[in-house]
Amino acid sequence: MATATLGNVEALSFLKARSEVLARVRAARITPQVEILPLEQAGGRVLAEPAFADRDYPPEPRSMRDGFAVRAADLPGTFTIVGEVRAGQPVNCRVEPGEAVEIMTGASVPDGADTVVMIEHVTVNGDQVEIPKALEMGANVNPQGRDAMAGALILNPGTRLGYAEIALLASIGQAEVSVYKRPRVAILATGDELVELEAEPEPHQIRNSNSWSLAAQVMRAGGEAVILPVAADELETTKSLIAEGLECDLLLLSGGVSAGKYDLVETALQSFGAQMHFDRVLIQPGQPCVFGQARGTFFFGLPGNPASTMVCFEIFARAALELLGGIVEPALAVTGARLKAPFRQKTGLTRFLPARLDAEGLLTPVGWSGSGDIAALTRANVYLVSDPEKPEYAAGEWIGVMAR
Ligand code: AMP
Ligand code: MG
Repeated sequence: MATATLGNVEALSFLKARSEVLARVRAARITPQVEILPLEQAGGRVLAEPAFADRDYPPEPRSMRDGFAVRAADLPGTFTIVGEVRAGQPVNCRVEPGEAVEIMTGASVPDGADTVVMIEHVTVNGDQVEIPKALEMGANVNPQGRDAMAGALILNPGTRLGYAEIALLASIGQAEVSVYKRPRVAILATGDELVELEAEPEPHQIRNSNSWSLAAQVMRAGGEAVILPVAADELETTKSLIAEGLECDLLLLSGGVSAGKYDLVETALQSFGAQMHFDRVLIQPGQPCVFGQARGTFFFGLPGNPASTMVCFEIFARAALELLGGIVEPALAVTGARLKAPFRQKTGLTRFLPARLDAEGLLTPVGWSGSGDIAALTRANVYLVSDPEKPEYAAGEWIGVMAR
């Protein structure tokens, strides 16, 4: 029988481990199923088909300002007002040399005119308008087809539909949209000390919170959470729940992946012929994080400490889930901020520590008792992300920041 492989696979740096996740899941070429939704329900989902412009955008040259449509070549000067175009009205006039047409934002620019002068920059006297300054040809006019030509690809499949994408689909008249089905993500917490939420824990027990934080993270990442019953630290129970979990599109286990005597998750996974892609990453919290594949399903063995589970999900499992959900390029939003006070660390690990970004944009780590301190995480609004090779940061120095 295969044995646990803890420590047998080379420990990877954070970025190498993340690349490994992306490469393995991409290589599996798993195509999610598709469903059709009314546009109002498609926000946050992933587009499953390309979207094309149904006509030129704009379909006619459009004024971007309220003002007067003229020929740039005639500027500056005094012009005769020969008509008016409102937004939503077909154009019924044209502009000859020395003439101007009053025009509103969103209205089509009449033939003959090439430029719009803002109402704020002119003086009107009866049917005359005085324009004191020259303007570049085309100013304040959005030419026909400038935003998109008819037939142009405007959204690629694999795009998450945020509000701008929804607006674009609405503008091309797509009342219904093909999106990928949400991946089903099994969540399996392990640990003899765990009881379910309804239970009154004994002093030596705790309630299972990881299944719930993971379910919230899964939902936010576009998956559908399937919470399995807690597995005791016992091989047969763990195996039968893993078998159930492997039926889903992705399996997340929490706990049981460290070096303890009753950490049986890897052994249980091996009995399914699991391929372990990594089982240790140079990060803190979350060092014993496991990633692999069994029966064609990817799984993560997330270390059970609540912060470890949360961080490993955000930096590794979310990428896998997004790829399985059809997202083409899962992003990791790590940016930078200045430290409010000096920061020191032991080198060797990329740290993801709960921290607060204040109103001035300065970053302060939140005091915590370690990766079991859930309350400290709720006081953080971001994670500080350290460079594993840098032992000291001065106050005011830039350091990595990741959204929480
Ligand atoms: P483990 O990774 O199994 O060694 O667990 C590490 C720590 O996380 C222990 O203190 C566990 O009690 C705690 N822990 C494990 N699973 C959970 C869970 N589902 N909810 C809350 N805490 C947990
Ligand atoms: Mg445990």
